[in-house]
Amino acid sequence: MSLAIQRLDASQSDFDQQLNRLLAWENVSDDKVNGIVNEVIDRVRTEGDAALVEYTNRFDRTTATGMQDLELGQARLQQALDGLPAEQRSALEKAAERVRAYHERQKGESWQYTEADGTMLGQQITPMDRVGIYVPGGKAAYPSSVLMNALPAHVAGVKEIIMVVPTPEGVVNELVLAAAALAGVDRVFTLGGAQAVAALAYGTETVPAVDKIVGPGNIFVATAKRAVFGTVGIDMIAGPSEILVVCDGQTDPDWVAMDLFSQAEHDEDAQSILVCPDADYINRVEASINKLLPTMEREEIIRISLENRAALIKVADMDQAVEVSNRIAPEHLELSVADPEALLPQIRHAGAIFMGRYTAEALGDYCAGPNHVLPTSGTARFSSPLGVYDFQKRSSLIMFSADGASEMGKVASVLARGESLTAHARSAEYRIKD
Ligand code: NAD
Repeated sequence: MSLAIQRLDASQSDFDQQLNRLLAWENVSDDKVNGIVNEVIDRVRTEGDAALVEYTNRFDRTTATGMQDLELGQARLQQALDGLPAEQRSALEKAAERVRAYHERQKGESWQYTEADGTMLGQQITPMDRVGIYVPGGKAAYPSSVLMNALPAHVAGVKEIIMVVPTPEGVVNELVLAAAALAGVDRVFTLGGAQAVAALAYGTETVPAVDKIVGPGNIFVATAKRAVFGTVGIDMIAGPSEILVVCDGQTDPDWVAMDLFSQAEHDEDAQSILVCPDADYINRVEASINKLLPTMEREEIIRISLENRAALIKVADMDQAVEVSNRIAPEHLELSVADPEALLPQIRHAGAIFMGRYTAEALGDYCAGPNHVLPTSGTARFSSPLGVYDFQKRSSLIMFSADGASEMGKVASVLARGESLTAHARSAEYRIKD
């Protein structure tokens, strides 16, 4: 039975409404989840380690008797790295090398300049002291997420990187630990869910409080991150994964079908969209989808995801394709066209842009180099991929010369008196020369 994938046509009068319906995604936590998460946070905050052990045993079905059972030392991480089959170790090392090299270029530099009267102004960059990295582990293990979260922090110069990863039934994933060893993670706790987020935000007897928590997770993790924001920084609240392929109708339809699957297989809510000016080509991609789906290990998840949230969109031309793409502001955008550089200047909103027929989005997930933690649900309109800049802070630098203080003191005094802030005014006036 062939799949029922939505077809949209940008020439239809109700296209805008159809597109809005397609994109509608409520990233909300329900009352039940909020209730559980709030209780977990409160108890971890007040009872510390004891609550962590209890919740971990309950939610991850472990048998820990104390925090000593929920921390893995450096020797264990190194053992995991040393024990990897050669092929896996080499792939992980290659990926880590490329991710590190890419992020090295993102490092912000401090700067300053001096005005004619000797006044100096500038901006000083400082890495965060300690950050927490949440690596999901409930239903699957994500070694690539360890690299994508820890390496930018390491490159930024963060002094201490604390990783948490749930280990359901106490089963650790060797690749995840090996990735932590490679990425320079300092401490690893086998904790997950809201309890892990609470421990990182408030600290317990054993888990140190961090300054910022990054990394994706399920609804319990996302809700907890939202709740502790303000006490600590967070990176973003990620929604389901998305891919949008803009195609000129010349790429092998099997390639495009598989690229759409590559996001759809993440989960039932993932969104995969093809935008193309060639109706006949869209038919061929649909035929490829139906042909290839039965060959997929995650056939059922892909089927539900495609039937729920995918779309094949016919546009008039490539200009309109780009216009639709900018409206959607996708997490992953593939420009599967002959000359992607010609389209690039028109692309305004996308988390990552994969250029040309050879650039499968999957390469970006693992080893291209750029970060795979990207803005979802249209938030690429105002936010960027996770990067070194997320782990660096900027402090303003201001050093007035005597002449500068005198001149600017007059300006400050006028403005301060206008606001009736007399202490401000007099503080500035003391420094005005006679
Ligand atoms: P997870 O680590 O996010 O969640 C597991 C934890 O959830 C458990 O340790 C437990 O504490 C808690 N939990 C589960 N059921 C609970 C319940 N009933 N009550 C209280 N707590 C409960 O792992 P996951 O569940 O596999 O989810 C991972 C998510 O991360 C997926 O949605 C996946 O798509 C996403 N992800 C995103 C990216 C990205 O880059 N955007 C990368 C990897 C994974």
